[in-house]
Amino acid sequence: MSDIKTLDRGDKFTHSSVGALHGFEGKQFLKDATGATSCEISFGSLPEGASVPFFHSHKHNEENYIILSGSGKFQVDDVVFDVAEGSVVRVATNCDRNLKCTSAEPMTYICIQAAEGSLGGFTMTDAEITERENRL
Ligand code: ZN
Repeated sequence: MSDIKTLDRGDKFTHSSVGALHGFEGKQFLKDATGATSCEISFGSLPEGASVPFFHSHKHNEENYIILSGSGKFQVDDVVFDVAEGSVVRVATNCDRNLKCTSAEPMTYICIQAAEGSLGGFTMTDAEITERENRL
């Protein structure tokens, strides 16, 4: 199991980290560390041959899985398909899901969980270009 650390915090942001992902093991939810109010994000990692030990379904939240490393199989209800580094899988509410690592390299992924249908404005319809001194 990896620990999450809060590295920086301000009035308008929280910076947390689970550290290097190549050594990440298990599952880590981030909402409590970051204080996120719009979604729950988690890191997950499965070693070769492992799947999540249960199927689950969500009543209100869709999930978006982003595969960061490794490859394997993803199952939604009775449909199975291949996933690999770079895959993004959106899973709707009220269906069963699980994933399994079939690569020698651990399958590391991010899961973002948010209320289905809640995305209103996004990117350029929500964002605006602002004037700020660049201190980077
Ligand atoms: Zn879930």
